[in-house]
Amino acid sequence: MSLIVMKFGGSSVGDAERMKRVASRIVEKKKQGHQCVVVVSAMGDTTDELIDLAEQIMPGKRPDREMDMLLTTGEQISIALLSMAIQSLGEPAISYTGWQAGMLTEPVHGKARIKDIQPERIQFALEQGNIVIVAGFQGMSEEGQITTLGRGGSDTTAVALAAAIKADLCEIYTDVDGIYSTDPRVVKVARKLNEISYDEMLELAHLGAAVLHPRAVEYAKHYQVPLVVRSSFTNNEGTFVKEEAQMEQGIVVRGIAYDKNVSRISILGVPEKVGQLAKVFSALAEEGIDVDIIVQSGVMDGAADTSFTVSSFDSERAMEVISRIQPDIGFREAVSEGNLVKVSIVGAGMVSNPGVAAKMFETISALGVSINMVSTSEIKMSCVIDSSRLNEVIQALHTAYGLDTDVQAFVGGPAERR
Ligand code: ADP
Ligand code: ASP
Ligand code: MG
Repeated sequence: MSLIVMKFGGSSVGDAERMKRVASRIVEKKKQGHQCVVVVSAMGDTTDELIDLAEQIMPGKRPDREMDMLLTTGEQISIALLSMAIQSLGEPAISYTGWQAGMLTEPVHGKARIKDIQPERIQFALEQGNIVIVAGFQGMSEEGQITTLGRGGSDTTAVALAAAIKADLCEIYTDVDGIYSTDPRVVKVARKLNEISYDEMLELAHLGAAVLHPRAVEYAKHYQVPLVVRSSFTNNEGTFVKEEAQMEQGIVVRGIAYDKNVSRISILGVPEKVGQLAKVFSALAEEGIDVDIIVQSGVMDGAADTSFTVSSFDSERAMEVISRIQPDIGFREAVSEGNLVKVSIVGAGMVSNPGVAAKMFETISALGVSINMVSTSEIKMSCVIDSSRLNEVIQALHTAYGLDTDVQAFVGGPAERR
């Protein structure tokens, strides 16, 4: 008998029929002799709908605490319904909210990290023969405040829980049948991967591949959780995420990711003085704003220009911080640009293969698209480009790196939330 954590995303439980189908799948797993802990997300578009509702009630900046209180209700609906669906198939099941399941987080709203998991209640319920259903994406701080782990955070609940209860396997069930070389909704000839390394998946997730939440991959790597991503609609084998993954002969790039939420901020005419950049980036860090790519021009007439990217969710706040420090820095002007995307290639083999970067530049330039910013590391390379050409660029890179397959990518569910 093994202990398995199964996680079902929003589209997998989008309506009553799908919820019942998921319940049968879980019961089947139990009947094969496994103990099952199930993590579930809010049904379909519930989280987005709750955000829209809050926007109607209170446009603009909303209290983070109340947003967490609101959004966690989505998962609470799912756990109760899933438990009922399982019980109506004659199997004992019990649902727990994040806090009942012992998910302790930092006292941060909207993107809390898990600090500790106290899984005794789950373990006791399992020993009693129950299928245990846990609400994804939520926890509680030591002060007793309800928190959330960030969009897509149910994956993290599942993997962290799998580590805490020492599960034999963590299965992420979703609306595609594994991890692909790129988003199969963008490139129809995307290649399904049999396996991928934790490091490569971590890069892809950080660079925008929604299929796994970045922190879930961090946990999986840290605690060496055996992890598989597979379809909730078919029985096809999924993709294993593991320490080391075999690379197919002749393929250097494992995957291509994109991030549509990129804004560029440029600070023009910064007078040359020691410590100017430190002041800018410390002020942003104090506000909790993550800066991604930074480019600094050469000094001309005693002044330089600095550009950097932030998530478009943070760009307004970043501009406020920059205007606040204007008197101290003495720059001429600051501008913010949207309509940008970051497209990235990832592959553990890139480091030992010259010419990978040149091919990325050549492929993008051949489409007549200009590259605004570039960043590289050992296993990834990113270019910031105009958003209007994104799909074409991804498709061209996919072909250029030999990733296209003959088989049309399987896409199991409707394109919800996109
Ligand atoms: P869930 O609700 O199950 O958590 P998500 O929408 O968060 O599902 O993640 C699954 C989606 O991730 C897919 O429908 C697909 O469009 C997108 N995706 C992006 N990049 C990839 C990739 N490399 N492989 C598979 N899916 C990807
Ligand atoms: N329901 C949350 C969201 O939509 C968490 C998740 O689905 O993982 O972001
Ligand atoms: Mg998700």
